[in-house]
Amino acid sequence: MKPGGKRIAILGAGPAGLTIARLLTEQSDHSVTLFEKSHRVGGKSLSVRQGEDLIEFGTCYTIMSHRRVMEWMREEGITIQQIVPHKIDGIPARDFFNSGSGAPLAIQGIRYVIARRNLLKKLESDTPAQAALDEAATPAVEWLRARKLGKIEKMMMRTVTGMGYGDLQTVPILHAMRWVDMDLILSGTLNKIYMPAEGWSEFWERLAQNMDVRLEAHVRHIERSAKGHRIVLADGTEESFDALICAMPVDRFSALLEPTESERIVGDAIHWGGFATTLISSEDWFEEQIEYYSETCLPGVEPGLLMSARREGYDAGLGGHLYIANQLPGDYTGPELVEILREEVTKRGASINAVIQQEVWEYFPEYAADAIRKGLVARMRQMQGERGTWYTGATFSHESVANICIHNEALVPKLLAALK
Ligand SMILES: Cc1cc2nc3c(=O)[nH]c(=O)nc-3n(C[C@H](O)[C@H](O)[C@H](O)COP(=O)(O)OP(=O)(O)OC[C@H]3O[C@@H](n4cnc5c(N)ncnc54)[C@H](O)[C@@H]3O)c2cc1C
Repeated sequence: MKPGGKRIAILGAGPAGLTIARLLTEQSDHSVTLFEKSHRVGGKSLSVRQGEDLIEFGTCYTIMSHRRVMEWMREEGITIQQIVPHKIDGIPARDFFNSGSGAPLAIQGIRYVIARRNLLKKLESDTPAQAALDEAATPAVEWLRARKLGKIEKMMMRTVTGMGYGDLQTVPILHAMRWVDMDLILSGTLNKIYMPAEGWSEFWERLAQNMDVRLEAHVRHIERSAKGHRIVLADGTEESFDALICAMPVDRFSALLEPTESERIVGDAIHWGGFATTLISSEDWFEEQIEYYSETCLPGVEPGLLMSARREGYDAGLGGHLYIANQLPGDYTGPELVEILREEVTKRGASINAVIQQEVWEYFPEYAADAIRKGLVARMRQMQGERGTWYTGATFSHESVANICIHNEALVPKLLAALK
């Protein structure tokens, strides 16, 4: 650490923790230490080698908004591969979007982008008008239908519900808007969608290799004070820091210290959804790279049903072609989800030879509509830096590596200014 440098502790070495650590070391001489409770970095990214194939159980794609991440991938020697255009109900995605009602897709796209920009701008105020807060809390489908955006609704069935980002009938339009921006619309229509050939896990490991990461660090307690913050680990060791970054779920962070009022309010306002990814083998299922099923992404979606699947490779020893199948878990257990999956695959004229591995993720922190109406978003901005603590991750931007990284790019200059 150079003279004048400060000590920064980051709780969590998932994409949020690692990307903010990288930005801080690029832009300052402060020393950065990451505390990660698991034995590996990368959080919800998990690449597993299965014979010749690399299977992504968690994070899979980059789109145009993953600019900074793709830059780092190139620097770290990761090969970025474009995926084959995917289909929905067996037809190209663009044809599916065009089957929605109303004006041509390009016109709807422009109307949507303008309405989105106007609302997000209003929400940047520290005291947004109640009408803007009410609009942000409106269920996505209601907001879209009021504006006759039937084709954008079809697009959101795939890019919002189909990716586990909420049922359009209930999810506040704010969530859909944070993810569905111009970059996403262009990436979807021009198929600018990529995957890292060496896998996301390898990327995060390379990114972390020169960082001070404490794996399997079990933080027992954090004591904040005006003079600094003391992190006490389960083995009794302790270290002091000048700033804290919460890059883990804020409700669990709050359990490690005396939470502020904002930390309590944000923790209470969030409901975590889930996402289940199951690796199966089959000899007689689809041959495309990715298939989506629209009937399981309709507003009012039922958990458990098969929303999409990705063909990953071939392994005769494991029973044939390998597929990752995606389901919303709801309250189902892992074995119940497998049973439903078998029925869903059979319904599509195929059969499962083997169920190889299943991951059920804590996914998509959805804000309660009522909390949005009461100004949650402004509060989440205003609490940055309170008691020397900064916040990032899926809760504070949106559940995607691109949104998290963009959030961090905006946060780091403020954090560095506060540390001067
Ligand atoms: C199936 C699936 C598919 C996805 N596909 C994509 C995609 O295609 N593109 C995309 O951009 N994103 C995708 N995502 C989303 C992306 O993976 C997440 O948005 C991202 O991982 C969230 O990063 P995070 O750092 O906020 O949280 P996490 O990834 O959850 O990381 C949080 C970290 O904090 C650690 N932690 C928790 N508690 C503590 C504690 N007490 N002490 C220390 N450490 C702690 C955890 O172990 C974890 O490592 C996908 C996710 C899933 C599950």
